[in-house]
Amino acid sequence: MLPFNIDYYKPKSIEEAVELFALLKRDHKRALYYSGGTEILTLGRLNLLHFDAVIDIKSVKECLVFDFYQNRLVSGAALPLTLIEEKNLFPLLSAVAKGVADHTARNKITLGGNICGQIFYREAILPFLLCDSDVVIAGENGIEKLPIHSIFNGALQLAEGQFVIQLLTEQAYISMPFVSLKKRQQWETGYPLLTVSSIKVENRLRFAFSGVCPYPFRSKEMEDALNQTNMSLENRIQQALESLPDHVLDDIEGSREYRLFVLKNTLEDIILELEGKK
Ligand SMILES: Cc1cc2nc3c(=O)[nH]c(=O)nc-3n(C[C@H](O)[C@H](O)[C@H](O)COP(=O)(O)OP(=O)(O)OC[C@H]3O[C@@H](n4cnc5c(N)ncnc54)[C@H](O)[C@@H]3O)c2cc1C
Repeated sequence: MLPFNIDYYKPKSIEEAVELFALLKRDHKRALYYSGGTEILTLGRLNLLHFDAVIDIKSVKECLVFDFYQNRLVSGAALPLTLIEEKNLFPLLSAVAKGVADHTARNKITLGGNICGQIFYREAILPFLLCDSDVVIAGENGIEKLPIHSIFNGALQLAEGQFVIQLLTEQAYISMPFVSLKKRQQWETGYPLLTVSSIKVENRLRFAFSGVCPYPFRSKEMEDALNQTNMSLENRIQQALESLPDHVLDDIEGSREYRLFVLKNTLEDIILELEGKK
């Protein structure tokens, strides 16, 4: 139970959802787009999040698409993570999704909720960063399709009233070799200590990270360093770590030093596997 009353809306179209948000705003009501609801309800129950209404997007059919269309995989924002795993149309995304929380929570947690949530791991964004996907969003200016790198900076930079409808990924990326490793300090289903996902595109490795810094990221500088195959593996990794975009987390999941130690070993394992030396 939430400790305050809210209004619940379940629009059937994108336009209806956007209009509802605008109407509620006009009435000075704070509305949240609601997908799996796990984070909204958890934070609401703890009085860490306050809102007057939720707009449940699970009946908006565009948000539930998971299929190939014109050489692109369309992944709807309201897809539960377990459905993504079961259908396995995007093996790297399945591998990352499988690592989030436990199976029961993943039945509820959705792709859009994971990517847009306040809980900063947002692991499901990693495959889309690696594949230069596009993000389809809706808002008062209509529907827009934007390159992920122009709208994701640690978190999706959505304007008030905008919500994510879909992510579009070129089919060619889907079959590229990949490795995704999630390291936890405790239990099988806890938050990550860190997650590193990597794909090999035309003999060059791409890397995306969650749990290392206070937000998920992909870094060109780190990729340049990690791809210097004329250098020793140790030096490649050392140089990459000097280009981390922010401070390394030091929290209950693990100290900064421990994270760096695990990160080095994880990068080594991934590179050896994708370069065929393992
Ligand atoms: C037990 C547990 C374990 C977890 N473990 C992990 C983990 O290992 N790794 C990890 O990455 N995360 C983990 N999480 C975090 C989880 O993925 C997020 O809390 C996620 O937000 C939940 O998804 P949801 O669909 O339930 O989101 P909701 O509660 O529906 O929404 C969360 C936020 O996202 C916004 N939102 C939802 N959908 C959209 C959309 N389409 N467009 C714009 N905004 C939107 C909502 O307004 C809200 O602010 C865990 C959470 C729990 C409860």
